[in-house]
Amino acid sequence: TTMRIGLLFGGRSGEHEVSISSARAIARALAAEENASKYEVLPFYIQKNGRWLSGTLPQQILASGKPLEIEEQTGQDDSPAGQFPNFNAVDVWFPVLHGPNGEDGTVQGLLKLMQVPFVGSGVLGSAIGMDKIAMKMAFAQAGLPQVKYIAVNRSEIWSNPCVFPKLCDKIEADLGYPCFVKPANLGSSVGISKARSRAELEAALDSAASYDRRIIVEAGVVARELECAVLGNDNPKASTVGEITFQSDFYDYETKYTLGQADCSIPAKVSSAIVSQIQEMAVQAFLAVDAAGLARVDFFYIESTGEVLINEINTFPGFTATSMYPQMWAADGISFPELVDRLIQLALERHGEKG
Ligand code: ATP
Ligand code: MG
Ligand code: MG
Ligand code: MG
Repeated sequence: TTMRIGLLFGGRSGEHEVSISSARAIARALAAEENASKYEVLPFYIQKNGRWLSGTLPQQILASGKPLEIEEQTGQDDSPAGQFPNFNAVDVWFPVLHGPNGEDGTVQGLLKLMQVPFVGSGVLGSAIGMDKIAMKMAFAQAGLPQVKYIAVNRSEIWSNPCVFPKLCDKIEADLGYPCFVKPANLGSSVGISKARSRAELEAALDSAASYDRRIIVEAGVVARELECAVLGNDNPKASTVGEITFQSDFYDYETKYTLGQADCSIPAKVSSAIVSQIQEMAVQAFLAVDAAGLARVDFFYIESTGEVLINEINTFPGFTATSMYPQMWAADGISFPELVDRLIQLALERHGEKG
C-alpha cells in the first residue's frame, strides 16, 4: 500500500511564493519513478488569509506554481478553525512552509498534538531555529562563534520616544556601522536592512519593527557566505559545503529570487580545514537548537583572518530544484527524490521514538 503524504504549503508568511516553489519540486520528487509506488501526495494549501484548502484547488496551484490572490481566496475570516483537513487521511505530513506560522513550531505543535508523523524539526527546534535571538543564545551556549549583536524589543522603538535615541547610541557604540537590522522571526531577507548611518539605523529599526516584536541588530562583517546542509535526527550528517556569490550589496530578497543575480559554487573553493570546521559547526548548530530531519546552516567566512562565524540555521530551507539544500546533497550523491524519501523515513523514525 502507498503511504499518503500530506504536503502542506503556502502559508501566511512573506515566503508564501517560495513555499509554493518548494512544494512543487517536492511533489514532483514524490511522483518520480523511484518514489511513485511508495507515496501518494495529498496537497493542502494554506491561503494567505490563513484558511486551509484541500482537494483539486491545491493540485492546480501546485501545477501552475501561482498563488491564489487575495480576491480569489475563499472564506471570510483569518482563522483556520473548522477548516482543518481530515487528519486521518494522511500518514505523514510534509510541512513545506517557510517563515512564521510554518517553520516556527506553530504547525509542528498542531501536527504533534494530532500524533501524526511529520517531516523536519519539532516544536522546540523549529521555534529556536526561527527566532534569531533565541537561536543566537543557543549557539553561544554551544560555544559557536558569531557576530556581536543586540536584541531589541519593538517597544524600545515605537513606545517611548526617550528610549529610542539611547538605543541608537548603544548600537553605535557597541556595534558601529555598518550594522544589519533584522526582524527576529523571518526569512528570505524580508525586513532586513543594512544601516550605514544614524538616519539609516533609525529607518531600519522602524521598518523591522513593522514585521516583528522582536528585532536583532548585528555588527556587519565583510565575509564570504558559505552554507552547509544537515540531514538526520540524533546523529545528523553534514553535506559538502557550498558558497553563494552575488554582485548586490548583500544577499537580499531580490538577489535570492531573481534568476541570475546569485551564483553558487558547490563545492565551495575553500581549504579542507575550513570545510571540516564548517561541517562540524553545522552539526553542532543543528544539535544546539534541537533540529530534526533537515536544516541548512549559513556561515560567514572572513578570509583575511581565517575566522568562521555562524550566521543562522534554517529548519526548513528553500527546497526548489535549484535551492542550495538539495543541490549540496546532490553533490554528495543523494538525488532530490532520494532526499525526499530519506526525510520521510526520518519523520517515521522520530515519530516512533516518542517524546
Ligand atoms: P534565509 O533566507 O537564509 O532564511 P534570513 O532572512 O534568515 O535568510 P540572514 O541569513 O540572517 O537572513 O541574512 C540575509 C543576508 O544578509 C545574509 O545572507 C548576508 O548577505 C546579509 N547579512 C546578514 N547579517 C549580516 C552581517 N552581520 N554581516 C554581513 N552581512 C550580513
Ligand atoms: Mg534564515
Ligand atoms: Mg529561512
Ligand atoms: Mg540566511
